[in-house]
Amino acid sequence: MSLKLSGWDDTIVALATPPGVGAIGVLRLSGAQAIDVVNGLFPAKDLHAQPSHTLHVGAIKKGGEVLDEVVISLFKNPRSYTGEDVVEISCHGSPYVQQRVLEACIAAGARLAKPGEFTQRAFLNGKLDLTQAEAVADLIAANTKASQKTALHNIRGGFSTVLSALREQLIRFSALIELELDFSQEDIEFADRTDLKNLVTAILNQTGSLLQSFQLGNVIRNGVSVAIIGKPNAGKSTLLNALLNEERAIVSDIPGTTRDTIEETLNIDGILFRLIDTAGIRSHSVDAIELVGIERSLQKRREADLVLYLFDATSTTPDELLKVADDLRTEGIRYLLVGNKADLTSANNLKFGQETLLIAAKTGTGIDTLRQRMVAVVLQENTLGENVVVTNARHYHALKEVQQSLQEVLNGLDLNIPGDLLALDIRRSLHYLGEITGEVTNEDQLDFIFSKFCIGK
Ligand code: GDP
Repeated sequence: MSLKLSGWDDTIVALATPPGVGAIGVLRLSGAQAIDVVNGLFPAKDLHAQPSHTLHVGAIKKGGEVLDEVVISLFKNPRSYTGEDVVEISCHGSPYVQQRVLEACIAAGARLAKPGEFTQRAFLNGKLDLTQAEAVADLIAANTKASQKTALHNIRGGFSTVLSALREQLIRFSALIELELDFSQEDIEFADRTDLKNLVTAILNQTGSLLQSFQLGNVIRNGVSVAIIGKPNAGKSTLLNALLNEERAIVSDIPGTTRDTIEETLNIDGILFRLIDTAGIRSHSVDAIELVGIERSLQKRREADLVLYLFDATSTTPDELLKVADDLRTEGIRYLLVGNKADLTSANNLKFGQETLLIAAKTGTGIDTLRQRMVAVVLQENTLGENVVVTNARHYHALKEVQQSLQEVLNGLDLNIPGDLLALDIRRSLHYLGEITGEVTNEDQLDFIFSKFCIGK
C-alpha cells in the first residue's frame, strides 16, 4: 500500500470513550511522536525505555500542575491497532479533566484525530484490509446478535478470505490466457477453452451467491421494515403494543384514531424489525387529517419489506381476504395474513385458509407464533450460518461489476474471441475485486469510507 494521505505523518490524539462523565475516560494517541508527547507530560518514567504492552501509573503534569493520576498503556509499533506507536491514557472520567489532558497532548505536538483516522491508519499500515476496517464500523454500530456476528466474522477476515480465493482463481485464469498471448505468433492454444469456461462459470456461481446474500445482509444490517395494515378497528394498535409489550400507541374504540405513523423497533432472534404503525386503510374517508395518514400508510406499505395484514376475524369474509391477498401478491409485497380477535370467534384457519394465522392481540394469544413467522418469512431458505454475508452496499456494487466482467469473459469464450480481449475483461474483474479489499483505491474513496466512523476509532 503506497497511498499516503495528507497529515499521515502527524501524531494524532482523540478521546476513545464516549464524551461525558464516566468512571474512566481513555485518550488514545498514535504516531511516531506518540511516546515523546506523553513522555513530556509523564515525569514518573521514561516510556521509551519501557517494553511494549505494559501499564504505567503516574501523574500527568503540565508546567508543574498535576492534571490527573492516570494509567498509561503502551503499544509499540508494529504491535498496535494502527501499526504505529500507540499510547492510551486512562484518565478519571471527568470531561473537564479529559479536556485538559487532551489539550496538553495537543500543546505537546499531537493533533486531534479525524473520524475513523485510527482505523484508516491500521488499513494503510496493512493491519486490516478495507472490508475488515468497514466491519469495525459495523461492529460499533451493531445492535443485534446477527449484526454483531456478521461484523465480527468480517473483522476476522471472513469476507477477505472468500475474496482472496476468488482472486487467486482469476489470476490463475489470467495467467493461462497471458501464456497463450506470449506464444500467439506460434498459433498455439495453451488454455483449453472448455476448462476456462468451467473455471469462469464456477467463479460466477460464487459471485452470484455472494450477491444473493446481500438481501439477507441488508436485513442484518438495516433491519426489516414492517407495516401493520388493516381496516380501522382491526386491532393494529393493540397488536403493535402486544409485539412491543408496551403501551406506546394510542388504542381507542373510535375507528381511525392512530393518525400519525410511529416507528418502533423489535428484536426477534437477532433480526431487527422496524415496525411502522399506520393509519387504517379506509377508501371512503372524508376526514382531511385521516386522509394524510392514509396516504402515508399506502406509501409505507410499498416501502415496507414485510406487510402484516391484520383483519378482524369476527367480521371478515374469506372472499374479502382472498382479494386482499391477491392485491398484495400482485404488488409483489411480502406479507402475512393475520386474523385478530380469535378470542371472540370460533373461526379457525380452515375458514380463512392455511396461509392465515389467528391471534388475539388483546390477550396475547398467538403473538409468539407471529414473531416466529416474521423471522421465517425474512430468512426463508437463508440461515445465519457460517456463510459469508455481504452487508455493505459498496461491496455489493463492486461485486456486480465483477460479475458483469466475468459474464463478458464467458460470452467472449463462447464467441471464441482472441485472448488479449479476454485478458482485458479479466483484468477489469480483478480491478473491482481489489476495490472491495482496498488493494485498488483512491484518496477520495478512503476519506468517504472512514468519514463515517466516529472520532477516536
Ligand atoms: P386499530 O384501529 O386497528 O388500531 O384497532 P385498535 O388496536 O385501536 O383496536 C380496536 C378495538 O378492538 C379496541 O377496542 C381493542 O381493545 C379491540 N381489540 C383489539 N384486539 C383485540 C382482540 O384480540 N380481542 C378482542 N376481543 N378485542 C380486541
